[in-house]
Amino acid sequence: MEENILTTLKLLIIGESGVGKSSLLLRFTDDNFDPEQTLTIGVDFKTKRMDVDGSAIKLAIWDTAGQERFRTLTPSYYRDAQGAILVYDVSSAASFSKLGNWLNELETYSTKSNIVKMIVGNKIDVENREVSREDGLKFARRHQTLFIEASAKTKDGVQSAFEELVHKIIQTPGLWDS
Ligand code: GDP
Ligand code: MG
Repeated sequence: MEENILTTLKLLIIGESGVGKSSLLLRFTDDNFDPEQTLTIGVDFKTKRMDVDGSAIKLAIWDTAGQERFRTLTPSYYRDAQGAILVYDVSSAASFSKLGNWLNELETYSTKSNIVKMIVGNKIDVENREVSREDGLKFARRHQTLFIEASAKTKDGVQSAFEELVHKIIQTPGLWDS
């Protein structure tokens, strides 16, 4: 039987090196967590299907393949993306303080002005938290993005992060259907 694929969406995952971008992607696509992972080397993107209101949506989720360390993400990485997940590590105030830079990158390179943004505070399972939920939420409100806290390790919030992002994209006229 032919399947009704509504659309393919391009999503990005950005943020400082080590915040858990690849781990969040692996948790979402394969429901797996590998603390020894070397995913950061070489993975371009993963695909995953998601059902929204009875229609299948195909997600193409781009990982940075470690390029963020060298500040060498290219315009083609950002091109035509409808959604972006901006990740920081709640146990690293430094990673949180860099979120503004990542928003600027999106501002500079996004080809869709109404790209939907989801800020994810990752690693909430760790003991030594440096960024409160309130501060994360405040930042997200100020920049009009979605917000969630998550743990790639325990799964908390991971599914919701992607689902809420996709729902917002689907609700945004002209972003995916033109
Ligand atoms: P990336 O550079 O942003 O892609 O980060 P990685 O996904 O490679 O993760 C960096 C390190 O943080 C790895 O050692 C992961 O195992 C670890 N990590 C990622 N997510 C979590 C999490 O939710 N909790 C904990 N405790 N560690 C995590
Ligand atoms: Mg990585």
